[in-house]
Amino acid sequence: MIRIDFLGTGNAFTPSGRLHALTLIDGKILIDTPPTLITQLRRKGLKTSEIEYLLFTHWHADHTFGFPFFMLERKYISDPKREKDLKIYLRPGGKEKISNLCNIGFPGSLEDVEKMAHWHEEEMCELAGTNWSFERFPVCHTPETDPHGYELTHNTGIKVLHCGDSGPCEEIESRAESADVVILEMGMPDIGKFPYHYTPSDVINFSNKFPKSLVLVTHNFASSKNISEGFRVPELPKEVYQLEDGDAIEINENGEIKIINNS
Ligand SMILES: [Zn+2]
Ligand SMILES: [Zn+2]
Repeated sequence: MIRIDFLGTGNAFTPSGRLHALTLIDGKILIDTPPTLITQLRRKGLKTSEIEYLLFTHWHADHTFGFPFFMLERKYISDPKREKDLKIYLRPGGKEKISNLCNIGFPGSLEDVEKMAHWHEEEMCELAGTNWSFERFPVCHTPETDPHGYELTHNTGIKVLHCGDSGPCEEIESRAESADVVILEMGMPDIGKFPYHYTPSDVINFSNKFPKSLVLVTHNFASSKNISEGFRVPELPKEVYQLEDGDAIEINENGEIKIINNS
């Protein structure tokens, strides 16, 4: 059984009723560390020390600024004896970047942050001790943030495409055909052209092109569906599921996907 939890589903502006987007696979593989990470883990009853694998998509603050809090909590509260391994997967140069965040945020308290984890910069990797491997691929987003997505393959053959933050791009579309689940951001409303984000119109085009993949929308610009202030959740085809904070999916041995609605 595969389980993927979406503890947050908002874009950088944390629209009402949403925390920043993150993805948690099988309770131990975390994609991105948003500023609201610790709150998100606590709501789920999880400790930072239960996260064994950390994958980064890009350097924007809504995806990385929770890292110093994550490491601080781990070091002083959840795993003070350093009994739990942490493996971090990120682009070349990322180790210095996110370690520096710790030194800026908590000087003197996390000076050993580089020794607290095993760092991996390979573009393809097996996540030893799990049933997953990944290939990282470039996407179309603010270039200064070195943006990437992850094609995750389970040993049953199930493929999950995590697109990171990106506008429509060939790198995503070339992988979407063979993906069972596509986790797609929808960071901007239909109020203009945004090459670095999907808009609702882009999501509809995507869903029409890849009708066999389940499209899960996250990093949503809109407020949570029951909230009337801010941007309202757009109408999308029924094949597209707009995630809310706390939603999850489960995939069984036969590849059947169940959406677990938190509300
Ligand atoms: Zn973002
Ligand atoms: Zn971004």
